[in-house]
Amino acid sequence: MSIFHIPAYTDNYIWVIQSGNDISLIDPGEAKPVLDVIKNLDLNLIDILLTHHHFDHVGGTTELKKIMSGKVYGPKGNIEGIDVHVSEDDKVETLGYKFSVIETPGHTLDHISYVESDHKIIFCGDTLFSAGCGRIFEGTYEQMHSSIQKINHLDPDTLIYCAHEYTESNLAFVCSEIDNEFIANYTDNLKKSLADGEISIPTKLSLERKINPFLLEILPSDLKGLEDIEKFSELRNRKDNF
Ligand SMILES: [Zn+2]
Repeated sequence: MSIFHIPAYTDNYIWVIQSGNDISLIDPGEAKPVLDVIKNLDLNLIDILLTHHHFDHVGGTTELKKIMSGKVYGPKGNIEGIDVHVSEDDKVETLGYKFSVIETPGHTLDHISYVESDHKIIFCGDTLFSAGCGRIFEGTYEQMHSSIQKINHLDPDTLIYCAHEYTESNLAFVCSEIDNEFIANYTDNLKKSLADGEISIPTKLSLERKINPFLLEILPSDLKGLEDIEKFSELRNRKDNF
């Protein structure tokens, strides 16, 4: 079994779980790039897992449904094409992976993430990014903070598969707020690897604790005396205005 990505739009990643010739998808925002890969590699599409209703995550679903043999899983609400609505603690099995659903509202109210404890992976959509987090469009700061802390409580070796390549711009914000040699070195190395055509995802929770202030493990020095929710809200506001 393996996991790879299909690029979509300008900076989206559609994640693909593969077992033999079978694949399942997380957040196919577009059908065309997926259909091309399926054709070129002679693959069978089994299941689709959706994290939230934004078009760049669900836009390819109805077209891909025409060629898939399994089910579309996603949050409660009115996303077109969902066969099985899932919520906190529900299980989703696909291609030998056993996911538990965790609700991670904040970016949107319907946002869910898929955790696989045996393989130590999470597909978290637009909740946590490398060195950043999703914008709060529908939920509250409290919801987003608590969703991110749910992820922060996973095994530190958990690989985090988020849906966008925002890491470099996120690190520019972090470096502007926190003077830290590890983060500065990580940023330099990342720029080189991105320039070489590599991607920064998946990231690992243990790494994020060192480079991502939204987990509240590292902080700008002027925020250290505040309550956690104040730290988080101030960080999110500063990033929104960066
Ligand atoms: Zn989104």
